[in-house]
Amino acid sequence: MLFSELGLSPEILRAIDEQGYSQPTPIQEKAIPLVLSGRDLLAAAQTGTGKTAAFMLPILERLKKFANTSVSPAMHPIRALVLSPTRELADQIGVNVQSYTKYLPLRATTVYGGVNMDPQTQELRRGVEVLIATPGRLLDHIQQKTVQLNKVEVLVLDEADRMLDMGFIQDIRKIMGMLPKERQTLLFSATFAPEIKRLAADFMHTPQTVEVARQNATNEQVEQLVFKVDNFKKRQVLAHLIRSREMSQVIVFCKTKISADQLARDLKRDGLDAEAIHGDKTQGTRLETLAAFKEGKLRVLVATDVAARGLDISELPYVVNFEMPNSPEDYVHRIGRTGRAGAKGVAISLMGPEETRQHEAIEKLTKQTLTPQSVDGFGLSSQQRPKPMLTPMREPMREPMRESMRESSRDLSPTPVLSAGKGEGLKQARPGRRNRKEKREVPALLLPPRYKVEIIR
Ligand code: AMP
Repeated sequence: MLFSELGLSPEILRAIDEQGYSQPTPIQEKAIPLVLSGRDLLAAAQTGTGKTAAFMLPILERLKKFANTSVSPAMHPIRALVLSPTRELADQIGVNVQSYTKYLPLRATTVYGGVNMDPQTQELRRGVEVLIATPGRLLDHIQQKTVQLNKVEVLVLDEADRMLDMGFIQDIRKIMGMLPKERQTLLFSATFAPEIKRLAADFMHTPQTVEVARQNATNEQVEQLVFKVDNFKKRQVLAHLIRSREMSQVIVFCKTKISADQLARDLKRDGLDAEAIHGDKTQGTRLETLAAFKEGKLRVLVATDVAARGLDISELPYVVNFEMPNSPEDYVHRIGRTGRAGAKGVAISLMGPEETRQHEAIEKLTKQTLTPQSVDGFGLSSQQRPKPMLTPMREPMREPMRESMRESSRDLSPTPVLSAGKGEGLKQARPGRRNRKEKREVPALLLPPRYKVEIIR
């Protein structure tokens, strides 16, 4: 199918042609005609499927009749409102809209928290047809009366599941209650959890459902690997993988802001070009780091789930889960950062001894088997070895059995760590001492204070 068959105007077709979109993606093929018809839409679309254009192109087509070059703010009321869970995703949608409206006199702006409200207020006062906002900052503007929502014709809830996960449900319901009842509502979500369905039932009119991939499915373009790694070796394994696989760029996911910061610092010490992004960094720093990564000037981006949500980096070859995510849905989102728009990618998960539960949850949700493997040169400590038989043996052990036990202990004993740069590798101790040392040190290393779990909101 061609974009020209979807009922879009020449101005829009020209703009997307310049973006290099030659053919609509499956979600675009299904959603564009539906949105053009004015129907409400409940869409389950994986990240990287082209969902932004799937809702934005038909919205712009519908708003085309209002396009004008007047300087009067009254001529540019907000007609489409897009709610996004994170600043990064809002920013990205904003960038896309700017490119799609290149040949249309429709205005768009993006507002999110963590930055000065004044420039946003000025933009809003000039008038915009399309507003992209995070819920909290939108409510601030509503309170300050810098936005009027009485002319909104289309509402988009993007990554609705994530907005709910982040605790925005009350804000969203409040905002939805302020919008004209006569409007079109488009809800995009990676999953249709019961809360999403409730939201749809309360605020949407007989929505059409569009699903382009199996719910919670992972992208087939992404090769998924799980490595069993002792926690205290994860950083060395990561540095080794980045080097040995010659990863030109990689996003590494951590669960907490603290562990993301610590890992970025450690990787830098290992001689790798790494920076962390998370919610505690200023908006300016986050955008700077992101821009450096997008331009290929930064090799390793260490991110938390929230900060990386919606990141669109074209041709990102690798994603690494340094810590397995608490929720299996986050795994789907994380690995969706690679393999975007048909490109191939590799997602590597480093599974610590106490992360098997998360691994099982991922396999269950994504309905696939991800067999854990060992990383060459990085053996497992006693923490991850299969438990030895504890039944007391009264009889003298028979020779073949002794032999086989020796064999398995050879296979699983800690092997020398490969060069890790700047003297960071583990020291190779004498076998006897090493075992004693590990017994004493490993529990402490498994939970150093810097890895204290902190849930980021
Ligand atoms: P999204 O799922 O909206 O985050 O889009 C993922 C990436 O695919 C973005 O970089 C888009 O610019 C790109 N994209 C969207 N639609 C198309 C298309 N029809 N052809 C090629 N790339 C596209």
